[in-house]
Amino acid sequence: MRAKNNMTLDILSLPENLSFARVTVAAFASQLDFTINDLEELKVVVSEAVGNAIIHGYEGSGGKRVRIGVTLYPGAAEIVVEDTGRGIADIEQAMMPAFSTDPERMGLGFTFMKSFTDDLRVESRPGLGTRVTMVKKPSLVMHSKVAQ
Ligand code: ATP
Ligand code: MG
Repeated sequence: MRAKNNMTLDILSLPENLSFARVTVAAFASQLDFTINDLEELKVVVSEAVGNAIIHGYEGSGGKRVRIGVTLYPGAAEIVVEDTGRGIADIEQAMMPAFSTDPERMGLGFTFMKSFTDDLRVESRPGLGTRVTMVKKPSLVMHSKVAQ
């Protein structure tokens, strides 16, 4: 499919940039026919992926960069979240519901990303970084005709 539009956000790994990232991605993606609910889900998955980059990838150190790329196709948005942090040793294990390397956390970020997108791909190299690619399609809306 041919891309209609794209943009890149390159932000510092600060928790205060989370809401900026999620709102910006949703505003850009609203060029497609997403429902309000779709856009809410998009915000959740962007928050989860960017939050993971900041918390786990960079272990909370604020001076690193997180790159968020968004490409819009006629029927889908592709969001890529990349960090150059510590990476994930076992991706399959990391994606299991309720798995976390931090006992204080729920381990549900990847579970939300999976259930709120149409495709989720995680690539990671220990010591080099992580790239999370998510595809979200506008949900089909039934257009019912009002009887006259
Ligand atoms: P929650 O998202 O519920 O707060 P969590 O972040 O631990 O908890 P997930 O988002 O599902 O849960 O991530 C699972 C695990 O994968 C994390 O505990 C962490 O070990 C690893 N992980 C995820 N993203 C990254 C990343 N960008 N860099 C390094 N490790 C990561
Ligand atoms: Mg998480």
